[in-house]
Amino acid sequence: MKIYATLIALLFMLSTTAQRYQRITQQAILADTHNDILSACIEKKVSLDQDLKGIAMSDLKRFKQGGVDVQFFSVWCDGDQRDPFDFANREMDTLYAVAARNPDKIVIVKNYAQLIQTVKAHKTAALFGVEGGHMIENDMSKLDSLYKRGARYLTLTWNNSNPWASSAMDETLHANTLQQKGLSDFGKKLVQHMNALGMMIDVSHVGEQTFWDVIHTTTKPVIASHSDVYAICPVFRNLKDDQIKAIGKNGGVIQLNFYSGFLDSTFMKKQQQFSIQHRAELDSMIQAGTQADYALTILFEKYAAEVDSWRPPLSLLLDHLDYVVHLIGVDHVGIGSDFDGINSAPQQLNDVTDYSWITKGLLQRGYHKKDIDKILGGNLLRVLHQNENDH
Ligand SMILES: [Zn+2]
Repeated sequence: MKIYATLIALLFMLSTTAQRYQRITQQAILADTHNDILSACIEKKVSLDQDLKGIAMSDLKRFKQGGVDVQFFSVWCDGDQRDPFDFANREMDTLYAVAARNPDKIVIVKNYAQLIQTVKAHKTAALFGVEGGHMIENDMSKLDSLYKRGARYLTLTWNNSNPWASSAMDETLHANTLQQKGLSDFGKKLVQHMNALGMMIDVSHVGEQTFWDVIHTTTKPVIASHSDVYAICPVFRNLKDDQIKAIGKNGGVIQLNFYSGFLDSTFMKKQQQFSIQHRAELDSMIQAGTQADYALTILFEKYAAEVDSWRPPLSLLLDHLDYVVHLIGVDHVGIGSDFDGINSAPQQLNDVTDYSWITKGLLQRGYHKKDIDKILGGNLLRVLHQNENDH
């Protein structure tokens, strides 16, 4: 009888712990700072309010299922796009149309108070993150215009540099031909202007010189909207220890990217071998007009079993998280998944319904609920609020 009672107690404990991570995820204000679904919808000619299971990693219904309360939608085009500012606006239009069709599900919010109000009404609070300074076409008034439409961060560069800020890719791979290294005077004025507006400065993608120029110019906490730890995975998109410490000192937050290639230092080599192996197929797609990155993603989907076998474990993402926490504390780390902008994520992280696996992993590593709440969104909301206030 006693064994029975113990067994029942144990089963009860197991079932409540199994649900606890889901409860914590649902109850927390979960805020993700980087999702590329708007670009994916344009590429795949679908809409966010359709059921996109099997087509994309995100859709309106699955945000709700996954407990995503606050989503920054990435507004992006590459450096070759003509009229990038127009393109940015058209991309924003697509989310405005979705929000107009679904007022009971998603609201584009313009400030912290609206955000909280929307979350309390059990709707998804949407904001924009503009990924790439080239989209403002060197014109401060275009930044103002994007801000007015709901852009609450600007990633100062994407992989391409612009006349006022150099990117991590160019500082690393094209240092000799760089016209401008770091922030120009205009770049510094832009940072000050963003501080005054209450728009967050995103240092993901920027070169180290640009990063330090930002840190020495900004009076508000910055974000890295989708970056990981260089010491664990040394790629130019990740943050070195001195940069991580500087973000801690600045009061900012590092939002961790789920991309396998930024988490796992062996991933890029595997991807290279895959590309060599499937060269003929890749070349024929590129010749037919498909962008190189997108062609690779199509092949990743075609050979899913092969590609799946090199997905890193979820624990590796948590190792990056632990690393940041040990260096600068639990107040400066969060989530910037890059869902729908990446072709590989750690095991278990398949789409926007899978954040609770992170919570489960954090509980297993001994994190308390209070700190998990900060990681899932509290830290980001603090930084958003601090950017908005005291100006
Ligand atoms: Zn990016």
